[in-house]
Amino acid sequence: MEAFRAEVGSSGPVCIRGGGTRWSLGGDVGAEVRVVHAPSGIDSHDPAEMTVTVWAGTTLTALAETLAEKRQEVGLDGPPGSTVGGSLAVGWNSIRRRRTGTARDALLQAECVGSDGQIFKAGGPTVKNASGYELCRLLVGSLGTLALTGRVILRTRPMPESSLWLRGSMTPTEVERSCYRPSSILWDGDHSHVCLEGYGVDVEQEASDLVEHGMTEVDGPPNLPPDRHRWSGELPKGAVLDVAIGVVHCNGSGAVPEVDPTVKVIAGRLKANFDPKGRLNPGRDPYMVSE
Ligand SMILES: Cc1cc2nc3c(=O)[nH]c(=O)nc-3n(C[C@H](O)[C@H](O)[C@H](O)COP(=O)(O)OP(=O)(O)OC[C@H]3O[C@@H](n4cnc5c(N)ncnc54)[C@H](O)[C@@H]3O)c2cc1C
Repeated sequence: MEAFRAEVGSSGPVCIRGGGTRWSLGGDVGAEVRVVHAPSGIDSHDPAEMTVTVWAGTTLTALAETLAEKRQEVGLDGPPGSTVGGSLAVGWNSIRRRRTGTARDALLQAECVGSDGQIFKAGGPTVKNASGYELCRLLVGSLGTLALTGRVILRTRPMPESSLWLRGSMTPTEVERSCYRPSSILWDGDHSHVCLEGYGVDVEQEASDLVEHGMTEVDGPPNLPPDRHRWSGELPKGAVLDVAIGVVHCNGSGAVPEVDPTVKVIAGRLKANFDPKGRLNPGRDPYMVSE
C-alpha cells in the first residue's frame, strides 16, 4: 500500500483509472488531472473462510480464474478489462445478482488512500462484522470521489454445480411462478431469458418444466446493450429489462433521475468531509448516473 500511497500523494487533483470500460460515467475528469493506477495481483484466497484479498487493479477475469480453481466466485461483473476497483467504484450489480448478491455485499474490507494522502481501512476481514459504520458500503458506487481503493477483501461464494440459460415466450411472471429463485430473469419485450443455477438434478428438473412450456436452452444471456437506466414502465426498442432489479439495459443512459434534495445535502457533506479540497476524481458526480 505504501507505494500506492506515495503515487497518490497528498496534494493536487488526481484521478484513478482501472480498465477504462466505464471511464466517463458520472462526468469527465479534466485532461490535465494526474492519473494513477491501483496495484494488481491476488494476495490470498481463503476458500474455507470464503474470502479473497486482492489488489484493486486486478482484472475481474484474473480474479475469476483464480477463484474457479476452488469452485468459488465473487458477485462482481463487468466487460473484459474491468478491474476489481473499477467495478466496486461503479457499483453496478450483476445480472446474476439474485444468486451472487449485490456488488455492495461483495466488499468486506477496503484499504484506501484518502484525500489527505493517508491510508485508511474501512470494514473488516470477516463475513460477520457488526461494529462501526459500514464505510465500505459508502465507497461502492462512489466513482472514486471519496477515496482511492488500493486493496480489498471480498466475500466469495460457491460456484453453482450446474448453470444454464433458457429462452422462450413465457412471460417473466410465468417463469417466476415455475421456478424456485432463478439467478436471473431478463425480458427483451418479446421473450423471457432465464438463468437456472444450483445442483444438477434441481436445475434439470426446473429446466424440463420450462421446456414443457416452450422454453429452449440457449448458450447464455442475450447481448446486453452497454448502458443502463432505471425501469420507468417502458422498454425502448433493443433494450433488455432485468426483471429482478428493475434495471433496463439500453443504448444511451436516459434521463438522470431526480435526487432528493436531502440526499444531495448529505452527499455534499460526505464529500466535503472525505475530500475537502476536491482532489479525488474532480468532475465526477455519482448522482449524474442514470441507474
Ligand atoms: C457492457 C457492460 C456490461 C457491464 N455489466 C456489468 C455487470 O453485469 N455487472 C457489474 O457489476 N458491472 C457491469 N458493468 C460495469 C462494470 O463493472 C464496470 O464498467 C467496470 O467494472 C469498471 O471497471 P474499470 O476497471 O473498467 O473502471 P474504469 O472505467 O477504469 O473506472 C470507472 C470508475 O471507477 C473509478 N475507479 C477505478 N478504479 C478505482 C479504484 N481503485 N478506487 C476508486 N475508484 C476507482 C474510476 O475513477 C472511474 O470513476 C458493465 C459495463 C459494461 C460497459
